[in-house]
Amino acid sequence: MLSIDKDTFKKDYENKFIKLHGKELSEGNNQQKYEALGALVKDYVANMWIETNKKYKKAGDKQVYYFSMEFLLGRLLGNCLLNLGIRDMCKEALSEMGIDLEEIEDLEQDQGLGNGGLGRLAACFLDSMASLTIAGQGCGIRYKYGFFEQKIVDGQQVEVSDNWLRGGNVWETKKADKAEIVKFGGSVKVENVNGKLSFIHVNYEPVLAVPYDTPIVGYENNIVNTLRLWSAEPVSNEFDFSSFSRGEFLKAMAYKNSVESISLVLYPDDSFYEGKMLRLKQQYFFVCAGIQSIIRHFKRCGGNIKELDEKIAIHINDTHPTLAIPELMRILVDQEELSWEEAWRITQNTISYTNHTILAEALEKWPTDMFKTILPRIYMIVEEINERYCQELWNKYTGQWDKISRMAIISDGYVKMANLAIVGSHSVNGVAKLHTEILKKREMADFYYLYPSKFNNKTNGITHRRWLLKCNPELTNLLKETIGDSFIRHPMDLDKFKNHLDDVNILSRLNQIKQNNKVKLAEEIYKTKGIKVDTNSIFDVQVKRIHGYKRQTLNCLRIMDLYNRLLENPSLDMVPRTIIFAGKAAPGYYLAKNIIELICSIADKVNNDPRVNEKLKVVMMDNYKVSLAERIIPAADLSEQISTTTKEASGTSNMKFMMNGAVTIATLDGANIEIKDEVGEDNIVIFGLNADEVLNFHKYGGYSAWDIYNNNPRVKAVIDDLVSGRYNSDKDKFNKIYANLLSYNDEFFVLKDFDAYLEAQKKIDVIYRDQAKWQRMCGVNIAHSGIFSSDRTIKEYATGIWDSKVLYKNL
Ligand SMILES: *Cc1c(COP(=O)(O)O)cnc(C)c1O
Repeated sequence: MLSIDKDTFKKDYENKFIKLHGKELSEGNNQQKYEALGALVKDYVANMWIETNKKYKKAGDKQVYYFSMEFLLGRLLGNCLLNLGIRDMCKEALSEMGIDLEEIEDLEQDQGLGNGGLGRLAACFLDSMASLTIAGQGCGIRYKYGFFEQKIVDGQQVEVSDNWLRGGNVWETKKADKAEIVKFGGSVKVENVNGKLSFIHVNYEPVLAVPYDTPIVGYENNIVNTLRLWSAEPVSNEFDFSSFSRGEFLKAMAYKNSVESISLVLYPDDSFYEGKMLRLKQQYFFVCAGIQSIIRHFKRCGGNIKELDEKIAIHINDTHPTLAIPELMRILVDQEELSWEEAWRITQNTISYTNHTILAEALEKWPTDMFKTILPRIYMIVEEINERYCQELWNKYTGQWDKISRMAIISDGYVKMANLAIVGSHSVNGVAKLHTEILKKREMADFYYLYPSKFNNKTNGITHRRWLLKCNPELTNLLKETIGDSFIRHPMDLDKFKNHLDDVNILSRLNQIKQNNKVKLAEEIYKTKGIKVDTNSIFDVQVKRIHGYKRQTLNCLRIMDLYNRLLENPSLDMVPRTIIFAGKAAPGYYLAKNIIELICSIADKVNNDPRVNEKLKVVMMDNYKVSLAERIIPAADLSEQISTTTKEASGTSNMKFMMNGAVTIATLDGANIEIKDEVGEDNIVIFGLNADEVLNFHKYGGYSAWDIYNNNPRVKAVIDDLVSGRYNSDKDKFNKIYANLLSYNDEFFVLKDFDAYLEAQKKIDVIYRDQAKWQRMCGVNIAHSGIFSSDRTIKEYATGIWDSKVLYKNL
């Protein structure tokens, strides 16, 4: 905890402002005030950062490196101040200087280097590792352009590039002296030196990987960990004038562009794989730079390479960083000259892997030709790994060619990254109980049979510091007042709140807090979308990436049905609803883009129809991102978690909502199941197919969307409305959705779950009318949310996978 008094802070801030901007604070605008505050906080952190690194060096504890292609950090200032324990003091000091801290915080660009849940998980984990005093560093890519910005224009998504570094980034420090070289292309010369083979990579294109470090501040514990993001630069920036005369200027420019393209943009795809060469380059680029720098640091600190696995844990977030396995082998064998067997033992013990999805379209596999051309030495190593492993398979499964080819790392002309990740690591974890069971029993059953002890579950979590303390200060205060502040360090203590749920006074304050958050969101909706919403209506929220399996379509169809019933019967007995959506569609995912068009068309129709206006409003908010989530979630009454069962590996927004006292309507998918187990079935509304039913339909068939369409008049009515021109003058507008539901036999079982979903929504209305009951449910959800703190998840990783000498025990 930083000890600094208000007067010192004020002086420091004024001085910082003057130094940074060359003028008095009173002359500055808010943007400049933000920059000065950020820079000052970074100064405050600097010494702790140095001390933390010294401490880690001296302690000799195991270091964890979390490799991830995405880190969706959002904004840093507010959480930095919070974790330093000076946010209240700063707020007060600034306010005395006539500055509103929240207004200043609002000017920070989100650090949006991730698509959604996977990237946000990585960010929550960094926060938890630092807060639990675990020596855990992040390793990733410093994309010049983050995830695109979404604008909704004329009811459609328009993508705008996210030039997040335009105004500078106060949080990062460029470490030019810690750059590494990454080699692409060329070929490998094999030489026999005194009976030993050596592999020399020649004619390659060198790329300079330059690290930018961001401090990750732990909660009031003086720990500052590091997120290291790598940027690609040409090896020499000096302009070679002689190349002009040799006519090689264009070649030099081409080299510069080719290099810089590597860390230029984040691929805007979630749960989808495309065999793009640049993506493979990105993956090798950060993994190679990261591992080289880890080994360099390890040796500089006097580490013995043969004990690497006792001192270093490398975790790979999904298969994107799987090349860490052959890259570590390359360094151990080619550079450190260890035997293959010893290098393999160390590599397997060092690396652990998290699987994030069972969606077939998300499984990464690279064409061998492309792989070989870009990474010739790494390809040789993967081949060797594969050969030795297939020999092992052959001994065990002699003659079973199908099985061996299914399990091989290289087969059918592809390198299969999940197979490599499983074989080359000592731990494979799923991200929620159901997901792990499906991995073990279905998707990865062959591997589970071969390596049962590698498989384990680590249910995801969210950092309660951002998703409760920071985003919902009023609720936090109520909790502190009623149960004390121990839940901040020990989120399981939130369960003490259960003892207060029969106190009508507490429940009514809970309700008032929700109401205040709803009023704030309503103002934002009016400001940004021009839609007036009723803050006494149920705020019914579905915010997440737009995807077929997440079933925003199901939500749309029920709104269309509700609209029909309201027109039939204007005095329909229902609790007014404000149905709020937000989420981005991958630019090339046309079904998802069509879903956005449908949401916007429905909103247009419904919001402008005075016959239903009092009871129903639909809002599609632009540009879903972390800072928007922090405003929407505390204002939600109802959390929509309605994915096709088995498809959502865990979900994490489900956890954010419950922690902020929303009631969940959900399928028994991902972590929804564990939420239900925590709160009990009376405090969540569950509907729809269960996992076995979905898996059996996949396996044996027997589902017909047409049958439902033909036999269920309400389904028929809303499906017909998709193509009747009722919601859009262009009758063909929603062809993609229509085709997905009928021509392609509704692969996400939207129609199958339609009736059950409507029933569940009816149930929500009934409960909501009994306000005492509803408020109690909200309270129960908050009280049971502690287990979904990522602190719990990270402790499980630390003890169950990384075997780190867990320093948090000292807390
Ligand atoms: C939490 C979060 C997600 C993940 O949401 P799910 O509903 O679990 O898919 C995606 N994007 C942002 C900005 C988030 O904060």
